[in-house]
Amino acid sequence: MREGRTIEVRSPRDGRVVATFPLSGSSEVATAVATARAAAAVWASRSVLRRVEALIRLARVLEVEADEVADAIISETGKPRAEALAEVAVSVELLRYYHRYAPRHLSPRRVGTGWMFWKKAWVERVPLGVVGVITPWNYPLIIGMDAVAAALAGGNGVVVKPSELTPVTASLLPDLCARAGLPQGLVQVVTGDGSTGEALVRSDVDKVSFTGSTAVGRKVMAVAAETLTPVSLELGGKDVAIVLEDADLARAVKGIAFGGFFNAGQTCISIERVYVVDAVAAEFTRRLAEEASALRYGVADDVDVGPMISAVQFERVSAHLRDAVAKGAEVVAGGVPEADSPPGEGDRALAPTIVTRVDETMEIFHEETFGPVLAVTAVRDEEEAIRWASASAYGLFASVWTENRRRGVDVGRRLRTGGVCVNESLAHAGIGGLPLGGVGDSGFGSRRGLEGLTEMTRPRAFLADRAGLSREPWWFPYDERVERLTRSVLALRARGGLSGLVVAARRLLGR
Ligand code: NDP
Repeated sequence: MREGRTIEVRSPRDGRVVATFPLSGSSEVATAVATARAAAAVWASRSVLRRVEALIRLARVLEVEADEVADAIISETGKPRAEALAEVAVSVELLRYYHRYAPRHLSPRRVGTGWMFWKKAWVERVPLGVVGVITPWNYPLIIGMDAVAAALAGGNGVVVKPSELTPVTASLLPDLCARAGLPQGLVQVVTGDGSTGEALVRSDVDKVSFTGSTAVGRKVMAVAAETLTPVSLELGGKDVAIVLEDADLARAVKGIAFGGFFNAGQTCISIERVYVVDAVAAEFTRRLAEEASALRYGVADDVDVGPMISAVQFERVSAHLRDAVAKGAEVVAGGVPEADSPPGEGDRALAPTIVTRVDETMEIFHEETFGPVLAVTAVRDEEEAIRWASASAYGLFASVWTENRRRGVDVGRRLRTGGVCVNESLAHAGIGGLPLGGVGDSGFGSRRGLEGLTEMTRPRAFLADRAGLSREPWWFPYDERVERLTRSVLALRARGGLSGLVVAARRLLGR
């Protein structure tokens, strides 16, 4: 620890200091990685079945301690209790999913040997070692747990570096894991700021699972390149909702409001842009504005939309709104905080806001806003909606709203994103089997699902001889027989079937 330096965690609800944590430097990070590595050696030697039994025990501990964990989440994010509890539920769901599916997925896979019928081949998935997990502040439990659950199922140790704004929840992890019977030291948490994160990337971890902004993701990848440490980058988004003329408007309005305003819009897969077909645009926008205006926002357990995590985030969202309005956008619900009047502590909730007449000159069009703001644009038809949807460097998730599910899927397939919802928003996070990841400025790699689990292991290919011949026909010295064999295999492959066999046999015999 650098000369006793610390970080203070403040409640976004009232500004009071809720906890103080050490600011760890590279030597503390190195110690944490070494401790996790020692524990991982034992953990990796356990069967996958035994490992996932521990995961299900962890799920049970979380179920029992749901309120205590939710209290920790609320203390540092200020989010409504329903959303804090949802974090626990989503994490439990993922642990249960890996409990059920990891053993089969991680078991050795036989591989066909083709014409080398006297061989046996298979692939095993082996642990990476120690995974460094760097997380943002918006979901202090879920995002860490996604990577931790997959890393543990895969047989690894973990070192988590939470955001300096939200280390409280992450700091519960070692104790929760110990109560679930996981080996001591296997899950480590290092607290600190960006320099601690960088120290973790520079340490000798075997992989970095990074979730955060695109700007910091680029830095992480640059540093990881020095040591060829593999990284997965789950970055920002500018997710789109497309509302077609045949949409069930009542559902679309409620679902899009939820997708845009859940967690006060501070979600990587928040809906930020809505493209609605002209035929229903006026009616949809009127109803969405009504819905937004009816939501309760503020700093209490029982509101719908909680506060911004920090004054910086409040200002970032406000600045996007001011820029849009100055360039001609219209606010049809909510409001635009004035410049030079920063909110007081306890006053950091933004009204759910709907803006229209947004164009490419505005920051809100291109940049991730990460607040309770929906930009609604009327478009001529489905084609124009797809065109605008694609006009973003990000590509995380999208939703399509239509009574015709097949049409929704077809539109979804034309979008450059890591995932699509049809008549749904955000709910895929509650399904452990669905991977989450993006393309372009949204990064690469997956959290969650079997894809997320695969990334926490590496393949080891095995080939074993079963015939015990004194020599293989292609071994040295090269002679006419080797050539005949090669020609024979090519013929077999080219023709297949009985005629292939006949030609192959002839070539083998040199005829
Ligand atoms: P940041 O990128 O600022 O920070 C993410 C994490 O990286 C934090 O723990 C941070 O530490 C750490 N960090 C900062 N600098 C470095 C560095 N040089 N090297 C290594 N680590 C570093 O993101 P935010 O915390 O502000 O989170 C918001 C962003 O996260 C949004 O862009 C959002 O879209 C994205 N996000 C993406 C998700 C996805 O799955 N695609 C999910 C959730 C969020 P510290 O905070 O202490 O500075």
